[in-house]
Amino acid sequence: MTDLKALSQEELDSFAKNAGLPAFRSRQLIHWIYERYALSIDGITEFSKKLREELSARAYISNLTLLDRQTSEDGTQKFLFGLEDSETIESVLIPDDDRLTLCISSQVGCAMGCVFCLTGKLGLKRNLKPHEIIDQVISVNRLILPERITNIVFMGMGEPLANFDHVIEAIVRITNIMKMSPKRITLSTSGIPLKIIELGKKALKVNLAISLNATTDAVRNVIMPINNTYPIRALLDACRKYPLPVNRHITFEYVLLKGTNDSPEDAHRLVRLLKNIPSKINLIPFNAYSGCEYNRPDERTVIQFQDILLDAGMTVLIRKSKGQDILAACGQLKATYKA
Ligand code: SAH
Ligand code: SF4
Repeated sequence: MTDLKALSQEELDSFAKNAGLPAFRSRQLIHWIYERYALSIDGITEFSKKLREELSARAYISNLTLLDRQTSEDGTQKFLFGLEDSETIESVLIPDDDRLTLCISSQVGCAMGCVFCLTGKLGLKRNLKPHEIIDQVISVNRLILPERITNIVFMGMGEPLANFDHVIEAIVRITNIMKMSPKRITLSTSGIPLKIIELGKKALKVNLAISLNATTDAVRNVIMPINNTYPIRALLDACRKYPLPVNRHITFEYVLLKGTNDSPEDAHRLVRLLKNIPSKINLIPFNAYSGCEYNRPDERTVIQFQDILLDAGMTVLIRKSKGQDILAACGQLKATYKA
């Protein structure tokens, strides 16, 4: 049985051809899967009953299973999805002004082992397939009808650049088939220089966010083990090579951990490190979870850190972490399901 959602645009064309169908049928299938969010071939009511039966004999449309949906006091929603092999992932929908941003997962768990991140504690179970990445967007779009996701960030579970080919295929389909502008898509990475350069070469024009989180290799080595392989200098060199369209910048995420990376010296070093890179900084005061060994700095320390960056002329935001009451904020995703 062929899963139609697992096929690329070209593969869907050949599927239709092999099934003896005219080319417009493949366009109709795309429309029903990606814009009408059809859950099954039988749901494609534009097709005759006979055609639906014929197609169902050789193909089907897979769907993520919604296992749980929680809404935070601030309107953030967290979706827990089951995959065909019973693994689970989470996606988070964040309303903000006129935007509806979906934070999506690229892997089940994550191998990078950043010490402050709950997803990192899970280890890597497996990569998501392209359609499992895209289906987070399709499924949530269907669940929130008549509203529609306006922006996508790869900031859920997993390291997107460690699942490179599948993430690229997902982005290609989201931009080409679902017609979302790459300007509205942001890929966040813990920093794999060769993959950042490769991503640049794909010329997909998506926004890049880097989880920098420290200003010295000594600290970054401890909190983000990947830094032992690719130190800060190698990471920033790769960022300088990322082909940024005019007037765009790279976002640097900086999780503030009390007593670890939140000193005024860190702020000054951050200014020096990012000089020459068109950048925007997102400060994320650490989000706690049970059993974590880090703390969030107090408000004054956060403001002082921000002021040093502002005084140096940098663009910097303190990210209000949304959805903390339902463990939907950055670094709090672990996708456990208790039946
Ligand atoms: N793996 C990618 C995509 C996940 S994004 C990456 O690391 O960039 C997750 C973001 O949340 C990262 O910027 C990470 O640094 C941040 N984060 C992880 N744990 C956190 C926590 N407990 N509190 C605040 N931010 C956290
Ligand atoms: Fe993985 Fe990102 Fe968490 Fe690090 S911060 S463990 S790379 S999900």
